[in-house]
Amino acid sequence: MNERTKYILDESRLPKAWYNINADMPIPPEPVLHPQTLEPVTPEFLSVLFPMNLIMQEISRERFIEIPEPVRQVYKLWRPTPMFRARRLEKALDTPAHLYYKYEGVSPVGSHKPNTAVAQAFYNKEAGTRALTTETGAGQWGSALAMACNFFGLDLEVYMVKVSYQQKPYRRIVMEGYGAQVFASPTAQTDYGRSVLATDPNSPGSLGIAISEAVEVAAKSGGQKKYSLGSVLNHVLLHQTVIGEEMLQQMEMAGEYPDMVIACTGGGSNFGGFAFPFLRENLQRGKNTRIIAVEPAATPSLTKGKYTFDYGDTAKMAPVVKMHTLGHDFMPPAIHAGGLRYHGMSPQVSALVAHGYVEARAVNQLATFEAALLFARSEGIIPAPEPTHAIRVAIDEALKCKETGEEKVIIFNVCGHGHFDMASYDAYLKGQLEDFDYPAAAVEAAMAHLPQVG
Ligand SMILES: *Cc1c(COP(=O)(O)O)cnc(C)c1O
Repeated sequence: MNERTKYILDESRLPKAWYNINADMPIPPEPVLHPQTLEPVTPEFLSVLFPMNLIMQEISRERFIEIPEPVRQVYKLWRPTPMFRARRLEKALDTPAHLYYKYEGVSPVGSHKPNTAVAQAFYNKEAGTRALTTETGAGQWGSALAMACNFFGLDLEVYMVKVSYQQKPYRRIVMEGYGAQVFASPTAQTDYGRSVLATDPNSPGSLGIAISEAVEVAAKSGGQKKYSLGSVLNHVLLHQTVIGEEMLQQMEMAGEYPDMVIACTGGGSNFGGFAFPFLRENLQRGKNTRIIAVEPAATPSLTKGKYTFDYGDTAKMAPVVKMHTLGHDFMPPAIHAGGLRYHGMSPQVSALVAHGYVEARAVNQLATFEAALLFARSEGIIPAPEPTHAIRVAIDEALKCKETGEEKVIIFNVCGHGHFDMASYDAYLKGQLEDFDYPAAAVEAAMAHLPQVG
């Protein structure tokens, strides 16, 4: 009997190309609109924020895009990442289902984020950018980009949501350790930050506000600084497909193929990166795998939001895209999965959900932490609060198999470890964690402010 637990790929099997789902999208793309005119943007407008090489990737229809050798060299510091058969979790659940998970927590900063951070730093360096600006919530994206900028010799300014800056100093110190400058957003350094502080001097900040500050600094830098986003955009999801391409090879090693692919969605990047290569198999080779995106009940853009055009940021400076949104000025409840507290969603993931190629589910906070501890006590890994959403649904599906007796193959992405999230686990263990239902009134208020397009 094959009792193998870990599936490790040799470095020589690190993928040589990212998979671009735009080549196979069964739905025509929607335009990206200028935030003031609401007319389709030109590459020139985007080039204020992003280097041209990344803009070309954003709109590319090429199916495979070669991973540059300097990026692959950095990837090799932690890639290929392991896939595990969750045998102990299967036993704990007493399920006939076969559970497999990919573990991205082995990267130096503990999540999948460096997969795109390294690529974005590389392409910016190639294009002559001097410095990058970005936002970060709890600090996962900021740490990844700080490491990547350090490797490629770029300066980095990080606008960190103030409440996290105050409550989670360790991620800030990681960023500073790699050489980045970190500011508590809203700051008094930008016009937008000053305007927020003028109305609310005690603003705790939000991801939307921090994005607006980082965008403003890049836009006013005269081309010296570019802006970098850690999720949502096509090129970010593209870079993350290295996860799913490895997973396909590892499932082949295991001699199985998934019936269900599950990942959490904040902006959609770990989900897209994990799931799109399997979706390609559905679209191109007639496979029939169910693909499930899981979000928090407290920020349910895919399950309760509108599929429509909206701004990517609170200050209405970022481009307007068609996506599932809760409204650009929606203030998400203070759930502990900081990476999932975003009003919008990747346009690619949104389109695939809207047209039925991907299923979406929302789960409550307490249920995710319950699943997280069952996972930790079986598999040893303490997951970040974000992937606990995927773990919850994988466990629920495995329990359904227990009832029906079906031996389904269920795979999920554990996109980061929770070592910086101990305060969240502490609150859960002390029974102090709130559950947070769907914030209907806040969503309804924000929906009144959607841009009126066409
Ligand atoms: C940032 C982050 C997320 C949310 O972002 P996606 O783009 O949806 O993947 C989820 N999990 C972890 C560990 C993160 O760092």
